[in-house]
Amino acid sequence: MNDLNTEVMFLKGVGPRLTPAFQKLGLLTARDVLLHFPRRYDDRRNMPQVRDVHPGDWVTLKGRVVSVNSRPTGRGMVILSAYLRDASGSIELTWFNQPWIKKALEKHDGEVIVYGQIKEGRNALTIQAPEYELIGEDDDPEDFAKIVPVYALTEGLPQKAMRNAAANAIEKFLPSVEEALPLEVRKSQKLKDIQWCLRQIHEPESDEWRQEARRRLVFEEFFYLQVALALRRAETHAEVGIPFPIEKLKAGEKVSLNLETSSADHALSRGQAVVAKSDFASHLFEELNEEERAGEPLWDQIHRMLPFNLTGAQTRVVEEVWADMAVPHPMNRLVQGDVGSGKTAVAACAMLAAVRSGYQAAMMAPTEILAEQHANSLRRLFEPLKIEVDLIIGKQNSTERKRALKATESGAANIVVGTHALIQEGVQFAKLGFVVIDEQHRFGVMQRLALREKGLGNPDVLVMTATPIPRTLTMTLYGDLDLSVIDELPPGRKPIKTHWRPSRDRGTVYASAIKLLEDGRQAYVVCPMVSESEKMQAQAAEELYAQLQMGVFEKYRVGLLHGQMKPKGKEEVMDRFRRHELDVLVSTTVIEVGVDVPNSSIMIIEDANRFGLSQLHQLRGRVGRGEYSSYCVLVADAKGEEARTRMETMVETSDGFKIAEVDLRLRGPGELAGTKQSGNLDFKIADLVQDGKQLEIARQEAIALLSRDPLLDQEAHQRLKARIQERRSKLAAATVS
Ligand code: ADP
Ligand code: MG
Repeated sequence: MNDLNTEVMFLKGVGPRLTPAFQKLGLLTARDVLLHFPRRYDDRRNMPQVRDVHPGDWVTLKGRVVSVNSRPTGRGMVILSAYLRDASGSIELTWFNQPWIKKALEKHDGEVIVYGQIKEGRNALTIQAPEYELIGEDDDPEDFAKIVPVYALTEGLPQKAMRNAAANAIEKFLPSVEEALPLEVRKSQKLKDIQWCLRQIHEPESDEWRQEARRRLVFEEFFYLQVALALRRAETHAEVGIPFPIEKLKAGEKVSLNLETSSADHALSRGQAVVAKSDFASHLFEELNEEERAGEPLWDQIHRMLPFNLTGAQTRVVEEVWADMAVPHPMNRLVQGDVGSGKTAVAACAMLAAVRSGYQAAMMAPTEILAEQHANSLRRLFEPLKIEVDLIIGKQNSTERKRALKATESGAANIVVGTHALIQEGVQFAKLGFVVIDEQHRFGVMQRLALREKGLGNPDVLVMTATPIPRTLTMTLYGDLDLSVIDELPPGRKPIKTHWRPSRDRGTVYASAIKLLEDGRQAYVVCPMVSESEKMQAQAAEELYAQLQMGVFEKYRVGLLHGQMKPKGKEEVMDRFRRHELDVLVSTTVIEVGVDVPNSSIMIIEDANRFGLSQLHQLRGRVGRGEYSSYCVLVADAKGEEARTRMETMVETSDGFKIAEVDLRLRGPGELAGTKQSGNLDFKIADLVQDGKQLEIARQEAIALLSRDPLLDQEAHQRLKARIQERRSKLAAATVS
């Protein structure tokens, strides 16, 4: 058997000269080359006569080269022109700046085979820079006229060399490749064995077989990831966590908060020394004694706290979360719901249970505006329950910051809301038992873990996605989490009417906004995205603000909001807008997430084509939050096909999950997920857009397999286990960097 770890240098035709190019592609060994799958294929089996070709066709032609000429063109280029003649006629072939081809063609006595696309040349049909092969005495044209792989390359690495290396790897090393997919799984999915599939993916004999091979390789890739994620999920479930006394709290029984022991237990369970904390425990006791609310059933407290009834979906998710909190293992749960589905209320119910169990809860949000807003709305909710909410963000003044840090450390703050400032070193919790992460995909796995690390023992973690994401992404990015979906919007929401208008209709758009202002509503105007730089973006917002305030909205109170303003200034503007002391808010996308002012009923987005779909959906979610009919107007001269699709999608649907699917197709998973956690998306052959069904199947098979063999201990699963371990260590490395 040949060793798959044989260095790439020893593959036929590679040698020391080409080795660096292979290495640059990450191809170090024969195994790597076998797993470097073609990017696409050229089907050279279409072999018409010259007379039958049409512009645009991809064809393989066979004949003799009858005249070879080269002439200089401007700018130091040399163009080589030759004619290929078969029994039916002749056609021009051209190459730029490749003098050696001229020599080769002139020297060759016999037929030539070429492959390329037919173009309309200046006077005749031509193929530019065709691939070619000189047919020798013992060559079989069949070898050329087949489906050939096209590989991703790097500078200095010709396609031919890559093909030869791959062919050599197949010939010599294929027999050494071991099957790692368990037989039971292959049988259940009717998948071919690995050696057959590798051969067919590199040297397909037919399209059908290539597809068959691809199906297996895609499945395999998804399957390993899903097994790895399911194992991680199982490991979390096996850790020691906090058993929140949910049943007692629901029944309104008194919960004894034996804090000293339980914190010591948790510290011990993590192998830590017990640190004497400031007298937080007695403080919490005092708080509860004073309040004497411990006897009130949880749902009663929630009815007192929330100004509305939860929807059926919210109630279901709250119960799911509570059930998960009750078990003595850590929770790791994702709550998904469309914009405005009311995730904050669900988080509040969960945090209430944590606080009533004697723990602190923390909530981390991606932006300061959002953190501030969460802090404010949670304060309002929890006020009647005498639960303290504090805020920790980066741009706080130092007195405030000190006070908040102290309250967090002493336990005086029951709930601490913040940005990633929460995971900084100076922040210490007295008894953090519950963590909420309002995700907005901006936090990576490490940041999630960092906040968890601030807890005592293993706190429960609730992750909320701020934007709906396609199910395929949920399964890959968050496949190690349990999932709850809020699939219902609060009642009474009026659908938002979305219009797409060209910029020349701007006058009418603003006129209709003024009508709404006259009716007592408020409006948002989002300024065009001019730059990644916050500074320049702020400037653009200021200009639009000045222009609107002095122009169309002259008679109205206009406010301005952008990322460069001081926190105090932002808060002040938001408060004034909330109190309806402003009619119009001109803003950058800082209002994208979370902002909640039910009286605003129109959102005008300038140059909307500059924004991504999920951003537009988020922005639109700022209106339609109250009892009024609401509008979203996209002002855009969308020229490109993609921009048009985005605008049309927005007009057609307000279902965030549908929009996310379109976004996935347009932008691809990497862009959509952001860079923070794309490690899980590093597929060699699988494609989340095309292969969603396979992913679902792979996930089910992974779960089924682990239910039969939870730790992969069976003999037949050892190779799989090794594969998974490789995969996991790679993932860990990717998340750390
Ligand atoms: P998101 O899921 O986008 O974070 P929020 O939690 O901000 O949504 O909630 C959106 C708005 O809906 C808020 O004004 C909130 O008070 C309101 N809301 C949430 N749940 C309900 C409900 N069950 N009934 C009525 N209004 C609700
Ligand atoms: Mg939210």
